[in-house]
Amino acid sequence: MSSQILEQFLTENLENLKGKGLYNVIDPLESPNGPVITINGHSLINLSSNNYLGLATDDRLKKAAADALQKFGVGAGAVRTINGTLKLHVELEEKLAEFKHTEAAIAYQSGFNCNMAAISAVMDQNDAILSDELNHASIIDGCRLSKAKIIRYHHSDMKDLRAKAKEAKESGKYNKIMIITDGVFSMDGDIALLPEIVKIAEEFDLITYVDDAHGSGVLGDGAGTVKHFGLSDKIDFQIGTLSKAIGVVGGYVAGKKNLIDWLKVRSRPFLFSTSLTPADVAASIRAIEILLESTELNQKLWDNGRYLKKGLKELGFNIGNSETPITPCIIGEETKSQRFSKRLIEEGVYAKAIVFPTVPKGTGRVRNMPTAAHTKDMLDQAISIYEKVGREMGIIR
Ligand SMILES: *Cc1c(COP(=O)(O)O)cnc(C)c1O
Repeated sequence: MSSQILEQFLTENLENLKGKGLYNVIDPLESPNGPVITINGHSLINLSSNNYLGLATDDRLKKAAADALQKFGVGAGAVRTINGTLKLHVELEEKLAEFKHTEAAIAYQSGFNCNMAAISAVMDQNDAILSDELNHASIIDGCRLSKAKIIRYHHSDMKDLRAKAKEAKESGKYNKIMIITDGVFSMDGDIALLPEIVKIAEEFDLITYVDDAHGSGVLGDGAGTVKHFGLSDKIDFQIGTLSKAIGVVGGYVAGKKNLIDWLKVRSRPFLFSTSLTPADVAASIRAIEILLESTELNQKLWDNGRYLKKGLKELGFNIGNSETPITPCIIGEETKSQRFSKRLIEEGVYAKAIVFPTVPKGTGRVRNMPTAAHTKDMLDQAISIYEKVGREMGIIR
């Protein structure tokens, strides 16, 4: 017999969410997650993936994965610290360090996992973390897990950050203080003010932690936001994911050798969760090789991002202040944003609405993620569907 209390909790809360229009229905794909996808038999231009460089379906990665799968099997068989470290894992970590211009790197099973692992390996209840209010959920959870005091500062507000850093430092209450930020904020596509953040960190002796999930493969010719600002030797923790621009799955920390040595003995997902599969590792290695060899995909991504932004802006849409290919189309009201997204999908563009609480109230939007794999023709089609639905709903004239 199932628990009555659980049953009541689930029924009440699910109905509540559905009543408020906040229950997310998942649309399974019948195709690869490429620039055009199939859902319910319909072909749609895909502007919702994080597959920035189109590598998720790249033949070179598929071949690397297939070869590794044949050679090493489907699973790694153990956690990294027992005997789940294949030579391939070591090779991936060496490649990641090269890619990030750091001494060393450590790979995890996901970017989310990486934040669970890395923050609490270094920070504890005697420490404090200064955290941008728009940081990703996995950063927030990683901070909570560490039991450090979490001090939120206003989004990219350097005056607020400095004041809070000063106060934390001068209180004498904390052993260590960390500043933690996304490199690129995925809802608006804006870039963290890393040069100012580094200055504040130097002034108050803070540990610096940048989660560059949306910047890696995108900024700094692909090497990420830290490289973009020329700060590779000034940021203690560079977090990345293998799941977005790299096109596979996994996460990593790049940094000084002694930091990585410490994470290898103290970060719990590394010690207690089975390592990445051989196919994932081999595909990730191949992806990084491709990024190190050429900036072609990166340039294509930016080109497509500029093209889409220009098209939507000329039609009169509010596309915010993105500094990256991420292209929000800000509608405002939550239900209108959702209706707009629904109509776009019906007309053939898969672009999802993002509303409160993921973004502030009244800034509901449809977010577009152009990739290197889109053709101009696909983007033109998407723009004309935007025009049709935008006029129909009175969003543009
Ligand atoms: C997407 C994202 C993650 C999670 O990465 P996964 O590899 O998908 O688990 C972590 N941090 C940030 C900032 C992200 O945007």
